[in-house]
Amino acid sequence: MSITGPRILVVEDERAISEPLAKLLARDGFEVTVAATVADALAEFSSLPPDLILLDLNLPDGDGRDVAREIRRSSGVPIIMLTARGTETDRIVGLEIGADDYVVKPFSSAEVIARIRAVLRRSEAHREREDEDLGEPVVVDELRIDPSTHRAFLGKQELDLSLKEFDLLYELARNAGNVVSRDDLMTRVWDENWFGSTKTLDVHIGWLRRKLGDDANEPRWIETVRGVGFRFAGGDGSAES
Ligand code: CA
Repeated sequence: MSITGPRILVVEDERAISEPLAKLLARDGFEVTVAATVADALAEFSSLPPDLILLDLNLPDGDGRDVAREIRRSSGVPIIMLTARGTETDRIVGLEIGADDYVVKPFSSAEVIARIRAVLRRSEAHREREDEDLGEPVVVDELRIDPSTHRAFLGKQELDLSLKEFDLLYELARNAGNVVSRDDLMTRVWDENWFGSTKTLDVHIGWLRRKLGDDANEPRWIETVRGVGFRFAGGDGSAES
């Protein structure tokens, strides 16, 4: 069997980190490309394209977050941030730009490889689930969510959603009128190994509400069911307006 392994794009300017990591990844059967700048990263991304990206945030010609934002315009490729700073703020910024996971420097290669495998598994499972669901838009009043195009509209206005926000909205809306538990949302949108789970979900619900123009105290769309989860308004306006 000489199947080529998953292609990993390592975006990292410190050779002391990228070189041993690239060597180890290659030994583990991954195909590795290293980019040391924002410009290189974007060029390699469009010519490869990779199956997963390891992304450093501080790059000599710019910010890794801009790389992620640019890539997210056209691609849902898994991104793992390599961050020197383990603060909650950074993690949330990472989630906002659509990163799938992060590792804090200094990290062991074994840890990174374990994360890569977990994220690749997750994205594979996600793709299979999407294939099953394809083509069935969910419509709740003036809200329309189309999983086949990954676009959502409120009236004529397209909602500018991150991948996670989209998945979350889709999960809630296709169960409109019913409570979806926090656990179910975490499993379906992230997975059980996701870091900082509770906080992550609340942060995303907050962003989603803002984008829907919703008010947590008088919800038109997303109602919090304390201690259980969230209920998306049914088509009859059952969550008030
Ligand atoms: Ca750096």
